[in-house]
Parts: sequence; structure tokens; C-alpha cells
Amino acid sequence: MESRLDLKLDTLTFKPDPEPHIVAQKELCLACEERPCTIVCPARLYVWENDQMVYNCEGCLECGSCRAVCPRGAITWRYPRGGYGVRYRWG
Ligand code: SF4
Ligand code: SF4
Repeated sequence: MESRLDLKLDTLTFKPDPEPHIVAQKELCLACEERPCTIVCPARLYVWENDQMVYNCEGCLECGSCRAVCPRGAITWRYPRGGYGVRYRWG
């Protein structure tokens, strides 16, 4: 059964920026025990898998939370360039 968040996410579309708007220095993640990015991202774009951080820019809601909580400064983040990124469909 889909959660309310999943239902909301289903109403969004994305046009990925060919120049990734999130770049994570994944080597810094190896020493990160808490990995708060895997908890705070509402779109669940950060996953710890096979002993490494795996992340995806497509689906980003542009909230900036991942950069804000990263204790190691591993994330370089900007908004996608004009015309790219999340699109909200109303109604
Ligand atoms: S919080 Fe930062 S350092 Fe820790 S796993 Fe996530 S991106 Fe890597
Ligand atoms: S900006 Fe928000 S939605 Fe995008 S990856 Fe970071 S936490 Fe997830």
C-alpha cells in the first residue's frame, strides 16, 4: 500500500539536468557512521548499498536537506539549471 508521501511523489515530474546538481564525495561517506542523508531525504535518493553510498539526482525535490545535515561536507549542491529539475503538477 502506497503511503501518502508516495502518492504525492507520484504527482511530480522531473527533467534531469545533464550537469548533476548534486555531487557527493563518496570517499568521505566511508567514515560516516550516522549517514543522516539516508534518513532526511524525502525522496529517498541516498542509499547505503554494498558498503558504499549510492545516490541519484533524478527525483530530487530541491529541499537542500541532504547538504544541511551532512556532517562531513561531502555534498556539493546547487539548484538545477533553468528548465531542469522538479516540476509540480497541481490539481
Ligand atoms: S551524510 Fe554526508 S558523509 Fe554521511 S553518508 Fe551522507 S553524504 Fe556521505
Ligand atoms: S535536496 Fe532534498 S530531495 Fe534532493 S537529494 Fe537532497 S534531501 Fe533529497
